[in-house]
Amino acid sequence: MNQFTNTNYQQLLQNLEYLKLKQMGLHLSEVIDFSIKNELSFIDTLIKLTNYEVDVREQNMIHAMVKVAAFPHLKEMKDFDFEFQPSVNQQQLRDFQSLRFIQENENIVFLGPSGVGKTHLATAIGITAAKKRTSTYFIKCHDLIQNLKKARIENRLESRLKHYTKYKLLIIDEIGYLPIDPEDAKLFFQLIDARYEKKSTIFTTNVNFKSWEEIFPEPKLANAILDRILHHASVVTITGDSYRLKQHLEPVNE
Ligand code: ADP
Ligand code: MG
Repeated sequence: MNQFTNTNYQQLLQNLEYLKLKQMGLHLSEVIDFSIKNELSFIDTLIKLTNYEVDVREQNMIHAMVKVAAFPHLKEMKDFDFEFQPSVNQQQLRDFQSLRFIQENENIVFLGPSGVGKTHLATAIGITAAKKRTSTYFIKCHDLIQNLKKARIENRLESRLKHYTKYKLLIIDEIGYLPIDPEDAKLFFQLIDARYEKKSTIFTTNVNFKSWEEIFPEPKLANAILDRILHHASVVTITGDSYRLKQHLEPVNE
């Protein structure tokens, strides 16, 4: 550092602070030492210094994207035990992780009984998307419909639909856990229709498609909804035991 005068160094520190380049300020001294020792060029030195700022901002941004997505938990693909759930094709899940389906505006449906990992897998894909700066939002079907209903009563349905349509990836969890009355089903249809072939949606459900008429009592509407969901969709049917009951099952199996 001896080739720099103390005042110059202080001036540079002040400039970095003024420009709110906190990380560059924090690492300045260390980068100068490194640069002198390794005889780095001006450009390489600046790259090294700016990388500190870029890395932290990138991390903050990822953090913000994940936060905005409102995931119920932060379970990722690495936390999923594929051996416990052999009905899940690991290769297919890897393909989802590549986010190719988002580029193609395709949907994913996780279908299976309670506790087999539908929400876990949907969240894991969502986290990958959010980390790659894809605008992502997670919501339970019941909450989604309540929000649309409220918006309609308050005369702002249009803007609420637009809001949910703008996400590149929307995860709608737990379709079919509660029945949906025909008026609400129409709202749901409007959203599905708005996203159809434009944006990707991941659905989780414990109800076989044949029985969707029980969730959406009006058959025409049930068909119209299913049609749009399934037209460009990968359906992942998970059979097998509930992971929640794993511990209770283990002693019996041994
Ligand atoms: P579902 O949405 O199908 O009802 P969840 O995804 O909520 O099930 O899974 C229930 C719990 O079990 C969650 O805590 C989840 O992380 C965990 N879980 C489910 N399947 C697996 C698995 N194969 N490996 C690790 N954890 C799992
Ligand atoms: Mg679930």
